[in-house]
Amino acid sequence: MKKYDLIIIGGGIAGLATAFNLAEKKFGKILILEKELFVGAGATAKCAGGIRAQFSSKVNIELSMKSIEVFENFEAITGEPALYDQVGYTFLLTDPKTVEPYLKAAELQKSLGLDIRILDAEELKELAPPVRTDDVIKATFCPRDGLGDPHEFLQGYFRACRRMGVDVLIETEATGIILSDGKITGVQTSKGLFEAPLVVNAAGPFAKPVAKMAGVDIPIEPYRRQIVTTGELDFLPDRMPMVVDVSSGLYCHKESAGLLMGWADRDVPPGFDQSQDPDYNDNILMKALDRIPQLETAEVANSWAGLYETTPDHHAIIGFAGEVTGLFIIGGFSGHGFMQAPGAGILAAEMIAGQKPSLDITRLSADRFVGGTIEDEVNVI
Ligand SMILES: Cc1cc2nc3c(=O)[nH]c(=O)nc-3n(C[C@H](O)[C@H](O)[C@H](O)COP(=O)(O)OP(=O)(O)OC[C@H]3O[C@@H](n4cnc5c(N)ncnc54)[C@H](O)[C@@H]3O)c2cc1C
Repeated sequence: MKKYDLIIIGGGIAGLATAFNLAEKKFGKILILEKELFVGAGATAKCAGGIRAQFSSKVNIELSMKSIEVFENFEAITGEPALYDQVGYTFLLTDPKTVEPYLKAAELQKSLGLDIRILDAEELKELAPPVRTDDVIKATFCPRDGLGDPHEFLQGYFRACRRMGVDVLIETEATGIILSDGKITGVQTSKGLFEAPLVVNAAGPFAKPVAKMAGVDIPIEPYRRQIVTTGELDFLPDRMPMVVDVSSGLYCHKESAGLLMGWADRDVPPGFDQSQDPDYNDNILMKALDRIPQLETAEVANSWAGLYETTPDHHAIIGFAGEVTGLFIIGGFSGHGFMQAPGAGILAAEMIAGQKPSLDITRLSADRFVGGTIEDEVNVI
């Protein structure tokens, strides 16, 4: 049996960002357990790569801003190069009902220091020429938002972690969390038992069953989400922001010389099924065709399905689970885990090391769902 100071269950972007920040603090012996063949094989591998701070809640805006600072300075921080392409994000508002809440959120974003611009249809057309704008009332745009390759950032964290002596076991599934008198003492895995007084649940869409291993119930549900990409498109400009059509829910951005398109079908029931539903893909294509009519001649290059890890209020959970001693949760990002993991990893490491977190994230505590009202995040894709 091997002894560690801390075991992280899940080698996705959240687990690796946490491990990196703890290793930087020389926290002690850290082990990451990953059940798949390689790190980053979970939701992180399915991610569209969008990074933004345009949210409606203060804590989501601040958490994303903290992350964006890391994306902007990733090489200086980790020693590993990775490109954050700040093409911006634009949210198209075509329904009068959505204008007020989005403009209100934009005011909050501005008050927190973000450069948010409110565009009319003509200005939007200049930014994203292929996009149909005849029904656009307003659009919000933030030039500091953008795109990153999740694989590149994850591998950067991974290499930095290895350099600093973090142990990583792939193809090793956590099957049980061992407790003694309400305190964590170790993790049972498919490759034997590992001792540790602290366990970080960074299992992404599998966070709920992993927490159950310690007798803890957390409201993180997996929802299937799909993406379709096209082949090369000669009508796309060199640079174009991520475009989000708030009314239809479609989002799209340039991917190589083509377009990546996604949409969250809210009628999909929770579950771990990651097989593709062809009707889902057709729906994405129809929404995209409606917003970008020139796609009529486009050819589908690729498509895939992955899982969002969603909480009832669409905010992450970052904090210790009160019911047992030694279980920390970082998850439930509700479709924003890539963009928020760098900041979340810093805050998780601070809390685990017993320091005051550098951002007030009491709003993201694991026990917030017990009684009381929960303010939902409006700006969810
Ligand atoms: C289609 C799609 C598009 C998305 N687009 C975006 C986007 O544009 N921007 C954005 O910010 N986010 C996006 N997301 C969300 C983002 O991908 C996730 O929020 C993020 O990757 C979560 O990271 P994670 O490390 O928490 O989870 P994961 O990457 O899933 O990592 C968890 C890891 O834990 C492992 N694991 C689980 N159970 C066990 C166990 N018992 N033992 C050992 N290992 C275990 C898994 O194999 C997995 O590798 C998207 C998600 C999907 C599905």
